[in-house]
Amino acid sequence: MGKLSELINKETQIKNETRRMTVIIRKLSLSFIVLSLFNLFLAIFFIHSVPALILWAGVIAADAFTLFLSYRYSKTVVLTFFVVQKFIWIFLCSMLYGWEGGFQFFLILLMILYSFGEAGYNRKKLLFDFVCFVMFVVFLVFFKGNEGRVSMDGLERPIQIFNIFIFCLSVSFVSSSFSKESQEMEEKIVKYNEQLKIEAGEDALTGLKNRRSTNEYLKNLAGSQNMFSICMCDIDFFKRVNDTYGHEFGDIVLKAISQVFKENAAEYAYISRWGGEEFLLIFPGLNGDDAYVKVHDVRDEIKKISVKNGEDNISVTMTFGLTEYDLNKSPEENIREVDEKLYMGKQAGRDRIVY
Ligand code: GH3
Ligand code: MG
Ligand code: MG
Repeated sequence: MGKLSELINKETQIKNETRRMTVIIRKLSLSFIVLSLFNLFLAIFFIHSVPALILWAGVIAADAFTLFLSYRYSKTVVLTFFVVQKFIWIFLCSMLYGWEGGFQFFLILLMILYSFGEAGYNRKKLLFDFVCFVMFVVFLVFFKGNEGRVSMDGLERPIQIFNIFIFCLSVSFVSSSFSKESQEMEEKIVKYNEQLKIEAGEDALTGLKNRRSTNEYLKNLAGSQNMFSICMCDIDFFKRVNDTYGHEFGDIVLKAISQVFKENAAEYAYISRWGGEEFLLIFPGLNGDDAYVKVHDVRDEIKKISVKNGEDNISVTMTFGLTEYDLNKSPEENIREVDEKLYMGKQAGRDRIVY
């Protein structure tokens, strides 16, 4: 069983296309070989028909050749060869066994297979479906009601049943393979979209909310809460850190500070990287006084950070501008207000909270 699955799923030599179609055709070819062996057996031992024997031996050879092609050539070559040889096969079978053999229904399988072979609906597919339709009509007109050239000797039912079995199996191979694929693709797309949504609202370096999503959040909060506070904060002398230890080290410090925010303020605050080395904290439901206590605690935690760089341990301080949000003013005006407070803190010597 393992060997068979390996044979079916083996890579093709064509590297720039997926194996899916080729794998389906391999499965179909193997199913047709089984069908042919069954009919070959009947042809030799029961029907005693040389043309039938030649036909089924030919089908086995054609399907074996399809398998051979599937390891070496592109899916287009394999699909084309498979479809053409099956067209011929259906025609010959219908001639030999008549309409009662039920081989014409395999045209439906070819239509499904061909239509799944390429994306979209195009002229080629339309033409293909039309050819199948014409063949169906031709078979109906010429073979229905007529005895086939070989007498099925009372074996109509087993032949029909085995035909139906292989037909259903083949349709199941084709449709399950494509439905699985499209479901997987859909799941992937949904996940990817969710990820994109998160990433679009997140700052890549720190994982904090970015300015875009913060603006949205602030607008919603202003429309739904009657009290909350906001705090704008900025790292003191950060340029010096960058200049002394390099921009990459500066990034490490930014991440360390963000981590402190996440660990100490996430419970009650919406934390965002407003830009560069500036952060905006939003405290839903907290008045200015309560928010002040929280900011005070976070500020202490930030001062405790010590980021190692060789022999040096680097600590930073931050300056904070805090205000209770004024619902009578726009988000921009409120932001301007905390920005001004932050500026005042910087002017007054940094490392403080201006409230
Ligand atoms: P102040 O106390 O007045 O805020 O001084 P400062 O040096 O922090 O302020 P300034 O605005 O002069 O410099 C901010 C620096 O922050 C400049 C910029 O290189 C740095 N910066 C902004 N974004 C990033 C970043 O993503 N990574 C790193 N490493 N540095 C950044
Ligand atoms: Mg700064
Ligand atoms: Mg700044």
